[in-house]
Amino acid sequence: MTQNRNESPSYQLYDRALESLVGGVNSPVRADPQPTPAFVDYGDGGDIVDVDGDRYRDYIMGYGPLLLGHDLPDPVREAISETVADGPMYGIPTEIEVELAEFVIEHVESVERLRFVNSGTEATAAAIRLARGYTGRDKIVVMQGGYHGGHESVLVEGNLGDRGPSSAGIPETFAEETIPVPFNDDEALQEVFDRHGPDIAAVVTEPLLGNCGIVLPVEGYHETIRELCDEYGSLFILDEVITGFRVGGLQCAQGKYGIEPDLTTFAKIIGGGFPVGAIGGRAELMQEFTPMGDVFESGTFNGHPVTMAAGLETLRFAKDHDVYSHVNDLGKQLRAGLQDIVEEHAPEYTVAGTDSMFKLLFTREAPETFDGHCQAGCVQDPDCPRFDLCPKTGADVEAGETDRWKRTFWPAMADRGVLLTPNQLESQFVSYAHTEDDIDRTLDAYQDVLSTRD
Ligand code: PLP
Repeated sequence: MTQNRNESPSYQLYDRALESLVGGVNSPVRADPQPTPAFVDYGDGGDIVDVDGDRYRDYIMGYGPLLLGHDLPDPVREAISETVADGPMYGIPTEIEVELAEFVIEHVESVERLRFVNSGTEATAAAIRLARGYTGRDKIVVMQGGYHGGHESVLVEGNLGDRGPSSAGIPETFAEETIPVPFNDDEALQEVFDRHGPDIAAVVTEPLLGNCGIVLPVEGYHETIRELCDEYGSLFILDEVITGFRVGGLQCAQGKYGIEPDLTTFAKIIGGGFPVGAIGGRAELMQEFTPMGDVFESGTFNGHPVTMAAGLETLRFAKDHDVYSHVNDLGKQLRAGLQDIVEEHAPEYTVAGTDSMFKLLFTREAPETFDGHCQAGCVQDPDCPRFDLCPKTGADVEAGETDRWKRTFWPAMADRGVLLTPNQLESQFVSYAHTEDDIDRTLDAYQDVLSTRD
């Protein structure tokens, strides 16, 4: 990192941005890097270069969309350029949105019809509305530590909050309709259905929890959800916004884990780096969306031609170039190497992840559920909104533990040219642009930081 940050172009840009953008950024997690966010100049393969001229091996990868890395392969680039050249958008259907829908339907078994929207948040909001409209019920069940975007129905017991609404501005009456349960816990789910079953419109879950340190599903958990939903006439909504066309490759996580949802939400990778979301599912359910049915959903930018072109060519490229073998092999290599380092230098830590996702957890064992604190690297951060509730805070906290991720570990890795997610909860991603050499150097950085920590 640039030595004198106060004079760096990034610092100056941030200072300037604070006068025009709320908190200097357009999404809160972007303000997390310490001491200030670096502003990107350009991406280059698996790297990004900031306006200070510093180059980083990037494992944020846009928080998931950039399966192929920062350099779009020629077919993707050309498809985008040709689409733009014809005109940016119309608000009238185009062939390309049909082609992307056909591609998804061909590869994801549970999907017969799709509706494209513009973000994962929009997708989960629409899927939940569809479930409520279809069942005529109001309650939904979500997983503690799960994340489905920033709308009213799901901002409860997510990453941001513990009880009740986790944002000001959400009426209590909304929050009351959302019931959080611990992930991977059959009994807890059964109890909720015993109490509320006839009122439950849907269970909403990610295949794995990807926003609280990567919590993998235990065998049989998704089957339990399926069975309880069938028994009570509730819908099973699988949120594949992160995992879709990443975990499990073209069949997505539902193919890998044998999950049978009624509705699936997608975003990130299916837009090839452009804003996107989608809801998919059985035709009989999906036809509830207007114009066929009674559940309203619409959007000026839905099925945006440039996004559709970028998404379709990205997925075709992934299929034709064995992209998943490459990213999954590198992911495995990175997790294995990191595991060795952890065993030698930090036995109280754990390596989590699957396929091309990875995370270093500041806990001794990979968790099976989200137990209410930020196990991805709980740093007992006094600024954390969960601080007062965190079971790890208190007298037993060693002074050296405080703020480890944000203020110590993350910058130490950045100093060694490795860009991890600045928020300790978020997943990290290997891309097609990364190489074995990148992984070796990244492991060198981890080794350096973990072997010399306090
Ligand atoms: N669902 C999951 C599983 C996510 O990880 C995210 C975002 O990271 C969302 C939904 C919200 O997606 P978006 O940020 O595109 O609104």
